[in-house]
Amino acid sequence: MTPLQGQLIDRDGPREECGVFGVYAPGHDVARLAYFSLYALQHRGQESAGIATCEGGHITTLRDSGLVSQVFDEEKLRALEGDMAIGHVRYSTTGGGSWENAQPVWRDDGRELALAHNGNLTNAVELWAELKERGIAFRGTSDSEIIAALLSSHDGKLIEDAVTDVMPRLEGAYSTVVMTKRAIVAFRDPHGVRPLSLGRLDDRFVVASESCAFDIIGAKLMREVHPGEMVSLTERGLETRQVVKAERPAMCVFEHIYFSRPDSRLEGKVLQQVRGRMGEILWREAPVEADLVISVPDSGNPAAAGFARASGLPRDDGLIKNRYVARTFIQPGQELRKHGLRLKFNPLPEIVSGQRIVVVDDSIVRGNTTRQIVGMLRDAGAREVHLRISAPPIRNPCHYGVDMSTREEMIAHKRTVQEIADELGCDSLAYLSLDGVYEAIGTPPEDHCDACFSGRYPLGDPEEANGKFALEDVAVVPARG
Ligand code: SF4
Repeated sequence: MTPLQGQLIDRDGPREECGVFGVYAPGHDVARLAYFSLYALQHRGQESAGIATCEGGHITTLRDSGLVSQVFDEEKLRALEGDMAIGHVRYSTTGGGSWENAQPVWRDDGRELALAHNGNLTNAVELWAELKERGIAFRGTSDSEIIAALLSSHDGKLIEDAVTDVMPRLEGAYSTVVMTKRAIVAFRDPHGVRPLSLGRLDDRFVVASESCAFDIIGAKLMREVHPGEMVSLTERGLETRQVVKAERPAMCVFEHIYFSRPDSRLEGKVLQQVRGRMGEILWREAPVEADLVISVPDSGNPAAAGFARASGLPRDDGLIKNRYVARTFIQPGQELRKHGLRLKFNPLPEIVSGQRIVVVDDSIVRGNTTRQIVGMLRDAGAREVHLRISAPPIRNPCHYGVDMSTREEMIAHKRTVQEIADELGCDSLAYLSLDGVYEAIGTPPEDHCDACFSGRYPLGDPEEANGKFALEDVAVVPARG
C-alpha cells in the first residue's frame, strides 16, 4: 500500500487482518461463490485479494493487489473453473505488503496445494529456518508460506495426515484453508484466536472467516470450527477431526467489538446486537448530560444505537461518511489536503450546531482521527463534545494477527483517561470497561484474548524478534515472477 492509500483508507484503528474462504461444490460456479464471499469479507483486508480453483487435478491461482472488485472481472472469473475453490483477502500482518505475499499461496514441494491463512505464527522464524535447512526455497516472506511449505513437503499420503502432523508444530494464531487436488481442508489453532465458521450450501460445505460470507451466497451457518479442529470437505462430504486438544480458549474479543461485520454471528450471537448492548452498558457506566447521540460511522453505529436506546437521548447522523474513500487513489493535492479528514467524514452543522453531542465510536488507537473529528464537530458549531468508546483503552500491541500501532504510538500509552481527553480536546471521555464488554458478549473472559486492552497475552508474549517484519530480516525476496 502506498502512503497515500494508507492515508485515505486509514481509520486510525487497528487493521483488519485477513479473510479466508473455501468451498467444495462440484457443479457450482465455485469461482463466483468465492468472489462474492470475499466481497462480503472485504472489510477484513483491502490490500490484496486472490482465488484459487481446482479443476481436473490442476490448481489455478489468481491474486493481485487491490480490492476484490479491482482484482477480478468476468473474464478472470470465467478462467477459474473447478469443483472447489479457496479465497483470501488480505491486509498484511507478517511479511509487509509486497505482491509475493498476496494469497492464496501456491506451492508444490511434492504435494501441489493452495493455502489461505488468517493469523500470525509466533514460531515462524524457527520453522522457516528448519525448512531452509531442508533446502526449501521461499518466494515471499509470509508465515502463510511456511505453513504451505510444511504441508506441501510432508510425505503423508493424504493432506489430512499432513495437517495432523504439522498442526501441533504451529504456534500462535491460525485459521487456515488449504486446497489440494482432492480436498478442501480447514483448521483452526487450539486457542481459536481468529474466527472460522463452517456452513452448508445445499448438500455441499463451505468454510469462511465470518458467517456474512455464507449469507451472500445462500449458504447456512452450521457452527464455528472448534479450536484445534480440522474439517475436511471432499466428495465424501464433511469429515471432522480434533487434531490438537483444545487449549484455553482465546477468541479475539476485538472481533466482537469491531473487526467482524455486524451481521456476522460469533459464539451464537449476531454482532449488531452484541455491539448494541455494549452501547447500552456504556451509558450505564458513563452517563452524560447531552442533547444528541451521533456515531462515528459505520463501525460506531450499533453501539451508538444502544447508547441512545438506553439513555433515551435522540440519535441522528451528525457525520456523513464517504463510503468510497478507499477507492480513490488520486492525490488530493495541496489545496484539498488541508481539509484532511473531510475526504472521509463530513459534519452536518444543521444537526450538531448548538448541541451537546455524545460521539460514540468503537475504539481509539492513535487518536489522530478522533482528534480531528472533535475539531470538525466544534467547527460545525457543537456546543459540547463528549466521547464514549465501546471498548477499553488500547495500550498493547497484538501478536496474533492484527496490525496495531506500536505501544508508543497509542494515545492511551502512559496516559490517564483525563489526559487522553485533554489530548483529544473533548469535553469528556469515557471507555467501556472490560467487564462491560464481556457482559455484552455474554461469554466468560477466560474464553477470550483481550491482550490489547489488558496486556495479558493468553498464548504468551512473544519476543519482538517474531514481530511483523521478523521474516523480512532473514529472507531474500526474489522479484515477482
Ligand atoms: S491482542 Fe487484541 S486484537 Fe489481538 S487477538 Fe487479542 S484481543 Fe484480538
